[in-house]
Amino acid sequence: MKPNNVSAEIIAVGSELLLGQIVNTNAAYISTKLSEIGIDLFRQSVVGDNPERLTVALKDALSKSDIVITSGGLGPTVDDITMAAIASTVSRPLILDEEIWKSIKDFFKKRRLKMPHYVSKQAHVLEGALAIKNPVGTAPGVIIEYGKKTIIALPGPPRELKPILEKSVIPYLRKKFGKRSIILTRSIRTAGLPESYVNKKIRKFLMMSGQVTAGIYSRPNEVDIKITAKAVDKKRATAKIKKVEKNILSILGKAVFGFDGDTLELIVGKELTKKHMTLSIAESCTGGLISSRITNISGSSKYLDRSIITYSDRSKIKELGVKKDLIARHGAVSRPVAVAMAKGIRGRSGSDVALAVTGIAGPSGGTEEKPVGLVYIALAKQGNVRCVERRYIGNRTDIKYQVSSAALELLRKELLK
Ligand code: ATP
Ligand code: MG
Repeated sequence: MKPNNVSAEIIAVGSELLLGQIVNTNAAYISTKLSEIGIDLFRQSVVGDNPERLTVALKDALSKSDIVITSGGLGPTVDDITMAAIASTVSRPLILDEEIWKSIKDFFKKRRLKMPHYVSKQAHVLEGALAIKNPVGTAPGVIIEYGKKTIIALPGPPRELKPILEKSVIPYLRKKFGKRSIILTRSIRTAGLPESYVNKKIRKFLMMSGQVTAGIYSRPNEVDIKITAKAVDKKRATAKIKKVEKNILSILGKAVFGFDGDTLELIVGKELTKKHMTLSIAESCTGGLISSRITNISGSSKYLDRSIITYSDRSKIKELGVKKDLIARHGAVSRPVAVAMAKGIRGRSGSDVALAVTGIAGPSGGTEEKPVGLVYIALAKQGNVRCVERRYIGNRTDIKYQVSSAALELLRKELLK
């Protein structure tokens, strides 16, 4: 008979985690994957590279949870102590695994690297343990059945841990602990709406409890609504989510730009591609951030013609053809200048649409009339130019990011027309 409630615990190993030099992203990642197969997480902890303390943590974890997963400390160097600590916890010897040893040797041979002698440490696995090959590194993952408990040791580098977890560990746990309820989440992504507004509009859904819940997560200029559902299988969980999703979509309308991993730049890129349109950008206060986000998307060369950072007045005049007396009359941070910048870059590039931003990112440079965070975003296309004024608060980085999002959002709305 399969147990009803399976619990797991994660122990991340690494002194650099305790020192705050790296963030424990592995624990977050493993937690997500476990929740997707309905395994309850009992606790997460971090232990330094110390065999005694790790042994204590392992014993404690094994006394409380069915599954104990460690990350890190599987490498070949002296500070890699996880295997030795597990061996002493379960009182079993470490034995050379011929197959792993061969794949490690191949790894070095293929890369024409000289193999240091201590690497053979990594080919030693615990007696009776199942070693999982590491497709991108040398440290194998290990699954150990210990009485009724399962111990899983994974390498620390996320790019090694992820494939082992997804391809081997999760299928193993699913098979062993059988089908149980799963947890599924879906993010609805919006831009340009204040968090308080979203909160008010969808309050009813945020108050839900039980099998389906919803929460709000806000970032500069963007608010996500995360719907989470628990059900016996993916199909049922999806159905539960869809019902709520449909309602929220009808309330928030066009402010929704995408779901889950969608970004504004991705959506804008898709629209430009679909419409066979080209884009040019003139940036001042964002210093290239809009262009950087646009070019984060593979295939952006199809639609991005050019972008230029015109930071000085001189460059706005010389590169974009903004009139000198326009700047003198209104200032570089003004509606007329933003409009002239957008027209200028569009005229020079011949692109279908053009974006231009000018603003005060702060913390210095603000005045009563033109405070820090004041920004003008202009969008030019054939026959017309639109310009919006926005006022943001935050530090320099926050303001730059908000402006870039607002510019992408303005473009997205234009493309939806
Ligand atoms: P290696 O063979 O590279 O030594 P390892 O299994 O011994 O692998 P560690 O030495 O503990 O792993 O960590 C190697 C690197 O992996 C760290 O420098 C860090 O960049 C990353 N890493 C380790 N643990 C974590 C974690 N919990 N979250 C995110 N990254 C991690
Ligand atoms: Mg290491």
